Amino acid sequence: MTLSFTSLGLSAARVGHLESLGYHEPTAIQAETIPHLLSGRDLIGQAQTGTGKTAAFSLPLLEQVDSNNPAVQALVLTPTRELAIQVCQAMRSYRLNGRPKILALYGGQAIERQQEQLRRGTQIVVGTPGRVLDLLNRGTLSLKSLGWLVLDEADEMLNMGFIQDVEKILSQAPANRQTAFFSATMAAEIRELATKFLQAPVMVTIQAPKTSPRQIQQVAYVVPRGWTKVRALQPILELEDPETALIFVRTRRTASDLTRQLQAAGYSVDEYHGDLSQSQRERLLMRFRQQQVRWVVATDIAARGLHVDDLTHVINFDLPDAIESYVHRIGRTGRAGKAGVAISLVTPLEKYKLRQIERQTKQPMTFMPVPTRAEIAARNLERLRSQVREAITSERLASFLPIVSQLSEDYDIHTIAAAALQMAYDHTVPAWQRSDSHDQGDNASQVVPAPKKRKGTALNSEAVESSPPVKE
Ligand code: AMP
Repeated sequence: MTLSFTSLGLSAARVGHLESLGYHEPTAIQAETIPHLLSGRDLIGQAQTGTGKTAAFSLPLLEQVDSNNPAVQALVLTPTRELAIQVCQAMRSYRLNGRPKILALYGGQAIERQQEQLRRGTQIVVGTPGRVLDLLNRGTLSLKSLGWLVLDEADEMLNMGFIQDVEKILSQAPANRQTAFFSATMAAEIRELATKFLQAPVMVTIQAPKTSPRQIQQVAYVVPRGWTKVRALQPILELEDPETALIFVRTRRTASDLTRQLQAAGYSVDEYHGDLSQSQRERLLMRFRQQQVRWVVATDIAARGLHVDDLTHVINFDLPDAIESYVHRIGRTGRAGKAGVAISLVTPLEKYKLRQIERQTKQPMTFMPVPTRAEIAARNLERLRSQVREAITSERLASFLPIVSQLSEDYDIHTIAAAALQMAYDHTVPAWQRSDSHDQGDNASQVVPAPKKRKGTALNSEAVESSPPVKE
C-alpha cells in the first residue's frame, strides 16, 4: 500500500516542499501517525530512529501552529542535546517560508541567550527536560498556550533518569493539549506515564526493518588550539580502547610517522600504504585478521585494498576531502548489526567540514572535547568493574578461593578484595592514568607523561603533525 502525503491530510504547499526535499512518499510511521495527529488524537508510536519518526510528529505540528501568535504552542522533549539540535534542524527544513519559529533549548548553552530568544517569541520549542524545566521555573518559558507536546525517545529519557523532570513538565502543560510519545521500546514505566498523561491514545507500532539499521556512532573530538593531533589522539585512544581500528591519514608520510609513534608508545599497530610491497601488504592483512595487530594506520587509496570490514572503530586522523570518502571509510565499522564507532579528529577550524558531512549524511555527529584524565580514569574503573563481574562467573575462580580463605585469617575480606583489584588495575592501566596516582591537574591530555607497562612511552606530540593537504 503506497499512500501519498496529500492523502494523509497535509497541505498542497507542504507536499510540494517535501517533494523538493526528496520525500516522495510517506514512510510507514508517517502514514500511520500523521492522520491521527492531524485529527487531534493522543498517540503512542513505537518506532526506532531511521524510520522517519521526526517528520511523523513534526509535519502535523508545523501544519497546525499559528505563526502569527508569538506564544509557545508546541513542545518536543528529547533526551539529549544532540537530538534536540537534530530535531530542530529537521523541523526547520520542513517549514514553509521560514515559519513558524523553532527554538532548541538545551543545557551547556548560555541560558541568558535562550531567555532572550524566548522573549522575542517562538511557536515551537525542542528541548531537553532539564533546561526546559529550568526555564519554566525561571518564568521565561510559559506553557499556557501549549497545544501539542511530543516526547521523543521516551525510553532514553527513562534510561537517563529524566522521567521525573518529564513528569513535572507534563503536569504544567494545559490539560486540553494533544500529547504524543515516541519510543523504540515500551517499558512498563513508559506505559504508566502514558496512562497518566495521555487520553485514549492510538497505538502505532512499526516493526524495525529486517536489515537492522547500521549502528555507527559518530564522534568528533575537537583538538584544542595549539595542540597537535597526535597529542590529542593518545587520550582518545586510551578512552575508547578500540579493539580493532583503521586509522585514516592523508599521506604515506603521516602513516609512517604516526605508526612509529604509536608503536613506540606500546600500541599494537602497523601501517598500510602505497610504499609497501604486495607481500608486505598481504602479511599485514593476515596479522590484522588474526588480531595480532589491533590497529592499522592507512591512507585512503591503500585502504581500498584492505579487505577488513568488521572493525569496532574507524578513526579519521585526517578528514577526507570528499564526503563520499567519509561515508566509505565509516562504512567499515558497524557491520552485521554490531555497534561501531567512527571518530574524527578535527581542529576548531575544521569543525564546519563535519557539520557539512552531518547535514549531507543526515546522521548526527557528537562533538566532544578531548577526554580528561578523570574521564579516562572513570572509564578504566568501569572496565575493571565489568571484568570483575565476568571473573565472578568464571570457572577458574574456584582455584583462587583457598588463597582467599588463607588470607582471611589475617585480613578482612573487603581489604583482600580491594588489594586484588588494585593489583589488577595497576597491571592493565598505565601509571599516569590511575586516579589514585599523584595529581596532574584536571586534564591529563595537557600533560602527556610517559605511561608505564603496557603503553611504553608517551607519544612525542611534536614529531607528527597533522598532514599537509597533499594526496597520496
Ligand atoms: P528519522 O527516523 O526521523 O531520524 O529519519 C530518518 C531519515 O529518513 C532522515 O534522514 C530523514 O530525512 C529521512 N526521511 C524521513 N521521512 C522521509 C520520507 N518520507 N522520504 C524520504 N526520506 C525520509
